This record gives sequence, structure tokens and C-alpha cells, in this order.
Amino acid sequence: MGFDTSGLLPLSDALQGMLEQLACCCDNEQLPLPEALGRVLASDIASPLAVPPFDNSAMDGYAVRLSDLASGTPLIMAGKAFAGQPYQGEWPAGHCVRIMTGAPVPPGTDAVVMQEETQADGDRITFLAQPEPGQNIRRAGSDIGKGACVLPAGTRLTPREMPLLASLGVATVAVRRPLKVAIFSTGDELKPVGTPLAHGDIYDSNRYGVRAMLARLGCDCLDLGIIPDDPAQLRAAFIRADEEADVLITTGGVSVGEADFTKQLLDELGEIGFWKLAIKPGKPFAFGRLPCAWFFGLPGNPVSAMVTFDQLVQPALAKLAGQRFERPLQLQAVTTEPLKKSPGRLDFQRGILSQGPNGLEVRSTGSQDSAVFSSLSRANCYIILERERGRVAVGETVTVEPFGGLLL
Ligand code: AMP
Ligand code: MG
Repeated sequence: MGFDTSGLLPLSDALQGMLEQLACCCDNEQLPLPEALGRVLASDIASPLAVPPFDNSAMDGYAVRLSDLASGTPLIMAGKAFAGQPYQGEWPAGHCVRIMTGAPVPPGTDAVVMQEETQADGDRITFLAQPEPGQNIRRAGSDIGKGACVLPAGTRLTPREMPLLASLGVATVAVRRPLKVAIFSTGDELKPVGTPLAHGDIYDSNRYGVRAMLARLGCDCLDLGIIPDDPAQLRAAFIRADEEADVLITTGGVSVGEADFTKQLLDELGEIGFWKLAIKPGKPFAFGRLPCAWFFGLPGNPVSAMVTFDQLVQPALAKLAGQRFERPLQLQAVTTEPLKKSPGRLDFQRGILSQGPNGLEVRSTGSQDSAVFSSLSRANCYIILERERGRVAVGETVTVEPFGGLLL
């Protein structure tokens, strides 16, 4: 648009600059497995067992020795093995053992023949096909070897990890305590939902978005509400947050002009950098430290606040919480509409990704103004347009990032 963008900080530099300074600040605690859902593992989990712990049958059928089948004559059933009730009797030559799924295979078993490939006449079992050695036997340790690292430190426990840990007999796990995050919104124009608006007022939307994202990340949130643009009240809120939380996240008041109060206070209380990022939306962003807590100042515009939280604050909080973090996969899609873009900033446009006849297609959600919230709520992905790229024509290939766990 003709304005000078050369002084803007690239997103990757901002991210690297922040992450270099941050380290995990959450102590460990030991929790019973069911209570550890959503928590971050404090240490690697090595398997105390082999999984499966013994050779067992993958089918309902008959355990056989291949040498007994060589003659082609039927075998006599010597007995039965059930899950939880191994067969412990004699197994003379010319015999087989009836076996159910999950039962330990009797010593000497070469294969399990599935029931459908046999014919039973009383105790006399005829085998219709010659089994391969090892067929239908799940070997001890074939899933997980004893002592193998099954989950590395930093893993956030989801429903997918719970049965895995239970299968290893893990009753309690060492996890990080949740990160404590204080938040407030700044602005004389802001009112909480549930109250009437005077002329010039708007509802505070950012705090509800930030709270929701913190909940998804498993953080404890200390919500300090709306703080007016008043130095004394702002100072008190900064001090309280610094005393009570690991992190403070505010929205608003970081752009030029109005930023002055905040900037003045933060200069006095801590070491905070005010950055102009080369991204759209989300240009103004502040990062630094108060005496005890880390500080992230998000822009006031609701879409900018959400996007900067997702792209910058989320990885930073993960590092402070001791969590491994990976961005969602990025994919390539073809545009079905032209996209407005001027060179100078990395754009995170909001898009709708769908499966077209020839592959992935993406279109815009409409106005990309950072105050237009519907652009985010109707979207299912970012359309990420490189910094130097200009207008995008129909049919061009663009990078898309489907919304991951945070924004879904
Ligand atoms: P600021 O960064 O404080 O200059 O705010 C930029 C724009 O975002 C202004 O239009 C504000 O009214 C708006 N804004 C700031 N904070 C919020 C909020 N918590 N909820 C909704 N809009 C906000
Ligand atoms: Mg403001």
C-alpha cells in the first residue's frame, strides 16, 4: 500500500527471539493416571513391561505344531486355552489345543489356525490349509519392548495416550503443574457481556477468545477483567498479575498513541519490547518480562489478538509449560477466488478449505479487516501468503494451514 514495511520484524525472528529466552517454569507433581489427562509429562515414560507380555493368539482357532500336521491326518484336541486361563495340560504328539483370542499360546506352538479353516468332528480336528510358521501368533514384545521409551517428556496427555499408559500398568505419572496465566483487556470503551452498552462502548470480545484458548492449552487462567485506560489501575493490575501468575497476557493498548500509558508503565516495571511485526493481521505486539512473570501484549483488534496468540503466544506458552509443540500441517490448495494482498507482510488470511474434484480448494471468508470477527468464525484454515507476494489470481496455488486443536 506504499507504506514502508522494511522496519517490520519477521514472524520467524520474533518467534525465535522469544523462544530463546524462555524455559519451562512449572514444577512436577505425581498424579493418578485418570487425573493426568491434559497434563504434560515431566519425564520420559519407559515401558516397565513387554507388550504384549507373552506370546498369544490373534484368533479363535487351534494351536498346532507344524510337525504334527505333516501327515495330513486330523489332530485330537488335547484341551482348551482361554484369555486369562492358559492351557497347562499335556500336549502329546498328534494333538492340537483349542485356543481363543488373547490366550497365551502353549509352549511349542508353531502357529494358530483360525477356526474357519478347520472342520471339527467331536475331538478330531481336520485342518483345511497348511499354516505358515508363526501365523496368528502375537509375539511377546512385538508392540513395545521392555524398557523402550513409549512417550517422551513434554507429551501432552490426550485420550490417545491414556489406554497406552494403562496397558503398561502405569498407575501414576509425573506431570507438570499447569501454567498460571493472568489476563486482562484494556480500553475505556470495553464492557463485559451481560451489561448494557452506552454510546461508543463495545463488548470486550478478546478476553473470551483468550480464555477459551488458554483452556484448550490446559493453563490455569486468572481473569482480571477489563482495566480502563488509566495509569493507576493499569499499574495495580500489572503488579497483581506479576505477583500471582507465571505469565500475563493483555489485549489492546499496544499500538501507537494509546500504547503510551502501557509502554511507560512497562518500562518502569519490567523489560518489555514493543514490536512491529511483518504479519497481517497483528502488526503491534509486545513481549518481555515483568519482575516475576513473562508478558505478552496482544493487539486490540479481535482477529489480530487471536492470530498473534495462535502464532506467537501458543508456542511460547508451550515452552514455559514444558510441552513439545508442533504447528499443524501445512498443505497446498488452489484458490477458487482472487485474493487481495499487498507485498510487505506475511498474511494470515482466513479461508474455507474444501475437497474439489481435482484436489484441495480454498476460498476467502470475505472481508479480511482485522475487526471483522465473522472472517474467523466461518473459516477452517489460514491462507498463508508469503511476505513479498502480491495479489493472488484464481487458480494459483497457496499454502493453507487447517485450524488445529487451538482454534477448533
Ligand atoms: P487498541 O489496540 O487498544 O488501540 O485497540 C484497537 C481496536 O481494537 C479498537 O477498535 C478497540 O476498540 C478494539 N479492541 C480493543 N480491545 C478489545 C477487546 N477486548 N474486545 C474487542 N475489541 C477490542
Ligand atoms: Mg485500547
